[in-house]
Amino acid sequence: MDSLLKQHLIDPEICIRCYTCEETCPIDAITHNDDNVVVDADKCNYCMDCIAPCPTGSIDNWRLVTKSYSIEQQFEWQELPDQEDLGDADSGALNEALDKEISDLLEHAHSGTGGKPIAPESAAQPSINLYSTSKPAIATVQGNYRLTDEDAPTDVRHLILNFGETVFPILEGQSIGVVPPTNNTSGANPIRLYSVSSPRDGEKQNANNIALTVKREEHGACSNYLCNLTKGDLVEVSGPFGGTFLMPNDPNSNIIMICTGTGSAPFRAFTERRRRAAPGAPGKLMLFFGARTPAELPYFGPLNKLSSDLLEKHLVFSRLENEPKEYVQDRMTAHAEAICTLLKNEKTHMYICGLKGMEQGVEDALEEACFHHSLTWSDVKQNMRSSGRYHVETY
Ligand code: NAP
Repeated sequence: MDSLLKQHLIDPEICIRCYTCEETCPIDAITHNDDNVVVDADKCNYCMDCIAPCPTGSIDNWRLVTKSYSIEQQFEWQELPDQEDLGDADSGALNEALDKEISDLLEHAHSGTGGKPIAPESAAQPSINLYSTSKPAIATVQGNYRLTDEDAPTDVRHLILNFGETVFPILEGQSIGVVPPTNNTSGANPIRLYSVSSPRDGEKQNANNIALTVKREEHGACSNYLCNLTKGDLVEVSGPFGGTFLMPNDPNSNIIMICTGTGSAPFRAFTERRRRAAPGAPGKLMLFFGARTPAELPYFGPLNKLSSDLLEKHLVFSRLENEPKEYVQDRMTAHAEAICTLLKNEKTHMYICGLKGMEQGVEDALEEACFHHSLTWSDVKQNMRSSGRYHVETY
């Protein structure tokens, strides 16, 4: 009998073609053409690095096959094929043994990365993939405000989108997708994802609207499209996406939030949710937020107005004149004791969002902090991760 393979496949009906998996794959086993994003069975080694970053879950599909589907076959698919009939092997001991071997392999791969991310236990159930790029929700621009100073070198905007009568349920920590209209010369634009920066009950409470935090990138097709929108413009929106980077509903939860620049978007949503739904909650909110200067820190004014009872703020600047460069991880080291006190509490959640580059620095700071406070960061992280209390979203 031919040998069996558990083949890793991407569901073309759910995939939003954001190419995050392709960018994440360390061995270039994922590729795409104009139609589909596919996994090359000859290269995939089940490392699982691509699973967590996928915003839709389309990446997590498997078929037991006697002969793997080629990438050319996968490029043609409109939908995933059914599990093939494996005949005798289907019910045979060999199949079972192989399945077990493969699941052990997958388990091993997960344990190396700390396990598949899971949502906080008390998080609300998210709605996912209600709208696609081919069947988008249409939102109307309600406002577009500059968040950074007029003379600051970065243009970061607070964009408010109203869904009118369209149902678009979205939780803090989830993202939406936008495809900018094509200009005829450059072909189709890929989808871009933005975290909502408003809480679940709307940017304005009980209004059917959301807010986004968008930084204008010099050659960014989508960021320029969004940053140039004016009141009344219509935008095609897909999503909601993301089922794990969610806020715990439990008001006893402590939440440590670490971000740079526009990575602050979900934390504005978390903070506003706590302020509206449980303002006197026993759980502590602690924010470490890095930007170059106050003029470039999104929401600097409003953040400063929030009471320290609601949010312990650490606004950290890397390019202040006549001041040494400070990154979020430096400030965390300075507050190692307070952080470790929270880490010893099973109700503490940690979220990291923003520049990929800060991840290692934050890891190192946490490792050192734990070392000096009778904790082992790798154990703490593993425990938090497996109980849905540790989340990273960096780009
Ligand atoms: P940025 O302005 O480029 O940087 C913010 C701060 O991070 C600066 O002070 C920068 O310092 C500092 N920084 C640079 N390297 C660092 C490191 N290794 N460790 C710690 N801090 C470091 O940030 P941005 O352009 O807004 O980028 C934010 C990221 O968040 C982007 O990758 C974006 O994709 C992502 N994001 C955005 C959203 C959204 O909804 N818009 C949501 C989630 C994530 P120096 O420049 O002085 O070195």
